[in-house]
Amino acid sequence: MIRPPLAVAAVDVIPVRLPLVEPFVIAYGSYPDVLSVLVRVRTADGAAGWGEATPDPNVTGETWEGAAAMLRETLAPALIGRDAWDRDAALREIDRRVEFAPAAKAALDIALHDLVARVLNVPLWALLGGRSKPHLEISRVVSMADPEEMATKAASHVAAGFDVIKLKVGEAANAARDARRVAVVRDAIGPDIGIKVDVNQGWRTPGTAIGAIRAMEPSRPRYVEQPVAAWDIEGLAEVRRQTGVPIMIDEGCHGPREMQRAVMLRAADFVNIKLMKTGGIAAALRLNAIAETAGVAAQVGTMVESSVASAAGLHLALALANVETVEMGGPLMTAADIGDARAWYDGSRVRIPDAPGLGIVVDEAAVRRFSTDWREVRG
Ligand SMILES: [Mg+2]
Repeated sequence: MIRPPLAVAAVDVIPVRLPLVEPFVIAYGSYPDVLSVLVRVRTADGAAGWGEATPDPNVTGETWEGAAAMLRETLAPALIGRDAWDRDAALREIDRRVEFAPAAKAALDIALHDLVARVLNVPLWALLGGRSKPHLEISRVVSMADPEEMATKAASHVAAGFDVIKLKVGEAANAARDARRVAVVRDAIGPDIGIKVDVNQGWRTPGTAIGAIRAMEPSRPRYVEQPVAAWDIEGLAEVRRQTGVPIMIDEGCHGPREMQRAVMLRAADFVNIKLMKTGGIAAALRLNAIAETAGVAAQVGTMVESSVASAAGLHLALALANVETVEMGGPLMTAADIGDARAWYDGSRVRIPDAPGLGIVVDEAAVRRFSTDWREVRG
């Protein structure tokens, strides 16, 4: 034994509600604030790591209250007494006890990674393979709204220094209006700015999706993300075969199993990896290995997350060479945060400091201020 064991002695489970700068609107919902569950995994000698769950009932099948209860009553107790050095074994034990619940599992996975990297005194990216690129560039998201309103918003992001804009669309009953949204934005921001289109399953069927994508092809979207229902991977493959725009799978790919299926069916050019879908970093690495082997490039995406989960996604994106695009915009969207990752952002550029673990400082007073409950789980 090189080092003494890092036995988990306690886990704090802390639901928090964080205010957003403005409501976030996509095809399946509107969100006035961020409902997140923070966890802090602690050892007897005072080492600690932070994690976060941002469940989304439409994507992860978990509510905020449900994820907090799952963590408090089932997952955190399963971690007590486990040696954090063997984090993969601890996470697999959690997987054996509970199927699905990916956001709740991601919180513990992120906290164990943060804890181990802090104890080793290295940034998390070093633990995940090192830097694959010098820094990260993120795109800004524009919520679904009237075309002209979206164009104004996109132009303001371009003026702030962003050269890639992501548009939220997805009106099945009026897909022509979606094509108009993209066209009006293209007119407003000029030919050189990248446009990504995220449908969030809104067009539902391949028939609607193929028509809509053909209609927006003149506006040159870089890719169209999740145009059909999440369950319909065959439909996604059909859309990809029938159109000339690269296709990204998001809600249809939670973890390695769906990635394998998407590869077999040749359904996607890109995959949107989100820690809240995979259940954390360990499973995200397995998913990305399948994607990279098959020539599918990855994006690290995000729910609307605080500094904790955003930092975890940024470290993963920095470490994985197969990750080409990053969307960790949470710290720019929250009006108040419990950590300091906002300071890493300079326009579209994100620089991750060399500090150990997630590299953020969590403001415990802010955690208390925004928490709706604070429970300590012990053995
Ligand atoms: Mg998406």
